[in-house]
Amino acid sequence: MIDRKDLELIEEARKVINKNFDEVNENHTVGAALRCKNGNIYVGVNVYAIHGSCAEYIAIGSAITSGEREFDTIVAVRSPKKNNALIPPCGNCRQLLMQYAPDIKVLLQTSNGIEKVSIEELLPHSSY
Ligand SMILES: [Zn+2]
Repeated sequence: MIDRKDLELIEEARKVINKNFDEVNENHTVGAALRCKNGNIYVGVNVYAIHGSCAEYIAIGSAITSGEREFDTIVAVRSPKKNNALIPPCGNCRQLLMQYAPDIKVLLQTSNGIEKVSIEELLPHSSY
């Protein structure tokens, strides 16, 4: 069940991608927002290169850089050109989340609406 804080987290992800979306170069196309267990929120956008980084990585890296270690919920959204739709984490991000935040919840768009699922559900039978 999602709550007001989850909706606020989605709004933070939308704000950061809407502010940084590079429509000309089709760059910075995903925004992520991460809420720590203490309530602090960190955001990120994806950056492209040969080995670019997903928005989730940037958000987690920013939080860790600021000393955070306890993570509660994360969400990623597409650019305004893609209606800011929620996007599930890629396989690499699922592994990151499992290693750094094994009890984190992920907000996802499903056929039942927005749902909050555990990383265990997204990466079952993991070695972590
Ligand atoms: Zn990813």
